[in-house]
Amino acid sequence: MKKRLFFLLLSLALLLSGCRLLPEVNVATPAQSDTAIWAMDTRMELRLYGDSTGAVMTDLTGQINALDQALSVTSASSALTSLNETGRSEDVRIVSLVSAAQKISALTDGALDITLYPVSRAWGFTTQTYQIPETEALDALRELVGMDKITLGEESVCLAEGTKLDFGALAKGYAADLCRRRVEDAELSALLSLGGNIQTVGSKPDGSAWVIGVQDPDDMEHFALTLNITGSKAVVTSGDYQRYFMEDDVRYCHIIDPKTLAPVRGTLRSVTVIADSGLTADGLSTALFVMGRAAGEALWRQRGDFEAIWMEADGSVWVTPGLTVTPGERPVYTVAR
Ligand code: ADP
Ligand code: MG
Repeated sequence: MKKRLFFLLLSLALLLSGCRLLPEVNVATPAQSDTAIWAMDTRMELRLYGDSTGAVMTDLTGQINALDQALSVTSASSALTSLNETGRSEDVRIVSLVSAAQKISALTDGALDITLYPVSRAWGFTTQTYQIPETEALDALRELVGMDKITLGEESVCLAEGTKLDFGALAKGYAADLCRRRVEDAELSALLSLGGNIQTVGSKPDGSAWVIGVQDPDDMEHFALTLNITGSKAVVTSGDYQRYFMEDDVRYCHIIDPKTLAPVRGTLRSVTVIADSGLTADGLSTALFVMGRAAGEALWRQRGDFEAIWMEADGSVWVTPGLTVTPGERPVYTVAR
């Protein structure tokens, strides 16, 4: 029974991830090796190109599992739970993640906020016991929420009384960056799919571009478009179709607007960010989903260090001009510089 549940969860995860590899990863050639693991609440597919990849693959799965254990918000023994219970941590991973979160939060007018854990819990997202909380209950949580409740030192993180963090918006991107470094050190190439996060490393051995499919929010079996990527990039999608509940025909998704303490309710179905760093792409994809397309486009014009794809509820797809895309059935528009 347990085994059946596991395989059911595995196949569900395939449907739930925001981006998927093309083609499916079950064709092995002598110069490539594939492994699938379940970590960070999602199915991950790791493909390494080259001979003698066994040791590197073992390191990648080891690193991901160690990070999963350290950053689990539900495990009693994780480094994150220790921070949430004691209000203090000197864990280097937690210090790095908080530092990155502060930078992205500042860039996005607070749209990324890693102190929303009590709010996600009030909506039932952490336990899948979904409910619409009373306004008073949310108001009471407001004083625990805000990036100003975190004090970041050189080697430590301290939280205000009652504040609790959750790295759900960043952890897979951080894991992708660690994996990328290990693969680069070994001078190999890789295509890594960590749930909705895709990380390419190096060049494909046959010299062709990496082809990444971005899911159609209305039909997760299909891609709304495909992207050609060269070199090492992170491609990360945040959307309202993976984790959500419906009540009275309203969709309540797992990404929370820090201003309202409620699930984001805009016109977007998903945002995909393409950047050099997995951590940046992951943080930005969540933040851009909160901000909406107009503010996200403005940030893109100002920064120029990432590319993005916005999928709107009306079916339209908006892409930044630095991307090479092959459209599917939806109309694709290029964002003006
Ligand atoms: P996923 O992890 O499903 O790929 P995201 O990277 O967009 O999606 O992260 C969403 C997760 O981040 C939520 O499940 C929750 O744990 C947390 N979260 C929700 N809203 C925010 C927010 N505004 N800022 C930071 N983290 C958030
Ligand atoms: Mg994210």
